[in-house]
Amino acid sequence: MRQRVMIAMALLCRPKVLIADEPTTALDVTVQAQMLDLFKTLTNDFGTALVLITHDLGVVAGVADRMMVMYGGRCIEKGPTDTLFYDPRHPYTLGLLHSTPNVDKRAARLDPIQGLPPSLEHLPRGCAFHPRCAFRFDRCFEERPPLLPVEDVREKACWYQGELNYEEVA
Ligand code: SF4
Repeated sequence: MRQRVMIAMALLCRPKVLIADEPTTALDVTVQAQMLDLFKTLTNDFGTALVLITHDLGVVAGVADRMMVMYGGRCIEKGPTDTLFYDPRHPYTLGLLHSTPNVDKRAARLDPIQGLPPSLEHLPRGCAFHPRCAFRFDRCFEERPPLLPVEDVREKACWYQGELNYEEVA
């Protein structure tokens, strides 16, 4: 209820943008669903853009039109949410999706991304994800990939241009 009141207070000034940082943390799934409905209703009624910062991919799938995936403090892939969910083009996005439970898929086990995130003070040289990436090659160790358009609808920061076949690297 306190979180709802906070959101109501934030919307009283009719802001153009509402930034919600982990707004569903520590809520049970029922209250979480109510919160997400509230977000949708309020943003539709007020015409407010919602910037949602979260680790919960289920929340992203339920609310966001567009999605930006961050790693090592930088955007590594962005585009329409359904495009990234169904056809990720960055190895980190792919790994995130495979390490998240999905009630629609029967899986013997989840596959976490191996290794640990880097310290922001000591990012690896080249691509920050390269110590954990199954698709890395020589260039990844030396040069940081810029965020570049891949298609009309998305951008990614990755040197790898081939197919991301998860089964081959899992
Ligand atoms: S640039 Fe290289 S190391 Fe980084 S995500 Fe792409 S393939 Fe992996």
